[in-house]
Amino acid sequence: MSIQENYHHIKNQLPEHVQLVAVSKTHPVSAISEVYDLGQRIFGENKVQELTEKHSELPQDIQWHLIGHLQTNKVKYIAGFIDTIQSVDSEKILKEINKEAAKHNRIIKVLLQVKIAEEDTKYGLTEDEARELFRQFLKGTFPNIDITGLMGMATFTDDKAQIRKEFMNLKTLFDDFSRDKVLETLSMGMSDDFPVAIECGANSVRVGSAIFGQRDYAS
Ligand SMILES: *Cc1c(COP(=O)(O)O)cnc(C)c1O
Repeated sequence: MSIQENYHHIKNQLPEHVQLVAVSKTHPVSAISEVYDLGQRIFGENKVQELTEKHSELPQDIQWHLIGHLQTNKVKYIAGFIDTIQSVDSEKILKEINKEAAKHNRIIKVLLQVKIAEEDTKYGLTEDEARELFRQFLKGTFPNIDITGLMGMATFTDDKAQIRKEFMNLKTLFDDFSRDKVLETLSMGMSDDFPVAIECGANSVRVGSAIFGQRDYAS
């Protein structure tokens, strides 16, 4: 199927309230333009350099989401334009984003990335770490950041029950946090598991290969 057909196929499966982040990492600007022309405005990238290059070449009304691990020394390159950083996985990075956002006189939206997968994953906060950061945020420690939700990735497996269990854990945490502040975004689900994620309460999904086709290398 073409990119256009893929895009419509995915959009048709998403309920009205579910936001689509089109994950364009490794795909060229021309492919992003195609999807942009179909009306898509939210795109996700996982590497800072690739993101800044694409940002400079593409229409300025794109809302860029960073979905990959971010190093503190790279925050400055995206702080001026990034819409949402979905991959906040430490206090250190949150502090740095807050600092750089202040320089640009902005409030940057972030999601706390929580480790929900059973498999050993490198990045993500434990539930307790996420709670602690959220508590600090609610106290006003990070004035140039707005924590608008949570993000998680399920284990890479065909076991739907396992995936469902992991997504439900994050949904429970999301509901828990929501008692202290209304959170907008529960970001779970990728090309292979977004229907399960939506059943479990996701209102934002990050879909790459099902729109743009397979990537040349795993990332
Ligand atoms: C690459 C990536 C996606 C999209 O994955 P697909 O399987 O291509 O849909 C979603 N979320 C994160 C964090 C990613 O790195």
